[in-house]
Amino acid sequence: MSSTISEKDIEKIVEMVLKNVEQFTQKAPVESLPVQQVQTGVPILMMTPLGTIGNDGVFDRVEDAIDAAYGAQKEYAKACTLEDRNRIIETIRKTILANIDDLAMRIFTETGLGRLEDKAAKVILAATKTPGTEDIKTSALSGDYGLTIEEMGAFGLIGAVTPVTNPAETIIGNVISMIAAGNGVVFNVHPSAKNCSAYAVQLLNRAIVSAGGPENLVTMVKEPTLETVKVISSSPKVNLMVGTGGPALVKALLSSGKKAIGAGAGNPPVIVDGTADLALAARSILEGASFDNNILCIAEKEIFVLDSVADELIYEFLKLETHMLTKDELEHVMALTLVADEKIGAKSCSMGVQKEYHVAKAWVGQDASKIMAAIQKPMDQVKLLLCEVSMDHPYVQLEQMMPVLPIVRVKTFEEAVEKAVEAEHGNRHTASIFSRNVDNMTTFAKAINTTIFVKNAATLAGVGFKGEGCTTFTIAGPTGEGITSARTFTRVRRCVLAEGGFRII
Ligand code: NAD
Repeated sequence: MSSTISEKDIEKIVEMVLKNVEQFTQKAPVESLPVQQVQTGVPILMMTPLGTIGNDGVFDRVEDAIDAAYGAQKEYAKACTLEDRNRIIETIRKTILANIDDLAMRIFTETGLGRLEDKAAKVILAATKTPGTEDIKTSALSGDYGLTIEEMGAFGLIGAVTPVTNPAETIIGNVISMIAAGNGVVFNVHPSAKNCSAYAVQLLNRAIVSAGGPENLVTMVKEPTLETVKVISSSPKVNLMVGTGGPALVKALLSSGKKAIGAGAGNPPVIVDGTADLALAARSILEGASFDNNILCIAEKEIFVLDSVADELIYEFLKLETHMLTKDELEHVMALTLVADEKIGAKSCSMGVQKEYHVAKAWVGQDASKIMAAIQKPMDQVKLLLCEVSMDHPYVQLEQMMPVLPIVRVKTFEEAVEKAVEAEHGNRHTASIFSRNVDNMTTFAKAINTTIFVKNAATLAGVGFKGEGCTTFTIAGPTGEGITSARTFTRVRRCVLAEGGFRII
């Protein structure tokens, strides 16, 4: 990363944000939110209310959003040097950091998902750890026949679809990566996050313009629908589609006839084997699975633990902010958080009623304490609910995205691997293991073959949160790009210079 924001700057910002988050959670009215001022060398923009200055990238008609970003990208490609791109990205980082409280609060109040303090942490992660132009490399070959260079050029205009679970975070990460590579972007955001997304788009546009970039390099349609996704993906002005969301989105983009990068669903299993540091495992899994109430695609969604250490692991969990659901509580929590469709189907040798479960949307991303209060078992100091279940339980099979974590006991490590691979459903997204046995780590990594594989830490480490490496909020498993960054959004161009006329042919 060549960002010039120092560790000290980030520490200061995080401190300020956490202080303000405390104030927010004490129910300060949105209008009275304090405004941050950060001392930096480049322009920093504090946001004025939505829609007060032009449209700043937010358009009523999707066609206008496409046209504006298309024109802006042409101007950007023509007039802005790499140095300009760096200055623009630096301004974006600092502007976002100066508006974190406001962004976090808007995401939290509009989507009603997750935890406010974690929204702020995610926005900071996107703003500080998404790589910029340093990610783009040119390779050169020289020899008897001259010089050949391969450089990473822009696609042009990219259409990007974003999820409700990380709305502004994905926009910030996508924008830094895409414009670092010289592109413009038109977003179709999730309808349930359209206001906080519009706020982020406006903030980004103002940062770009204030740093000397063109207006409307980043645009979106104000009222996004499935129809507007189709208009974007079928526009000849759009060269690449990038989708971050569930399976239906990825399928739609991959069948759109346009080149597409798909970042789809996960259902990350975690194995705890007989050699694991169980206290570390419990602490780390709690951190990852309760972060933002488990709405992240990379968050631990089910545990497979060796029978020989299962009781001790549960004991370590119970020292922390967790609660083990009793059989009766589990039934109530299931009735609350899952929807069951009953259908008649073959059952052994006869016909019987089969239940097909779905996640109840209203409970996605809600606090564990809220779930317990709803089943008349009020409980403070609880961030994660645990339950012991079998492999076929819906909490194991579904991407539940709530702080309810199923634990499955297994007899052998081989059984753990087999079941974990099955539970991941071939998403090739994320998996983790707690073990001190390198052979076990390697065996599981090879068998599950996920984009992110974490050993002895929360899966958050896989996106650079308390882990080494850069971040992304668009993890492209289905189409294979993996951890997306600026280079993902480039086309490789070859430029050949022949030797001079003295060469004998
Ligand atoms: P979602 O699939 O409901 O919506 C994502 C986006 O796709 C939204 O903008 C939505 O309007 C659009 N969309 C949905 N169906 C579509 C269709 N048929 N055609 C065109 N557009 C469509 O997902 P969500 O609830 O917003 O987010 C949660 C899901 O996204 C989870 O499955 C999670 O694992 C996944 N996710 C993946 C990543 C990743 O990087 N791989 C990151 C975040 C979220």
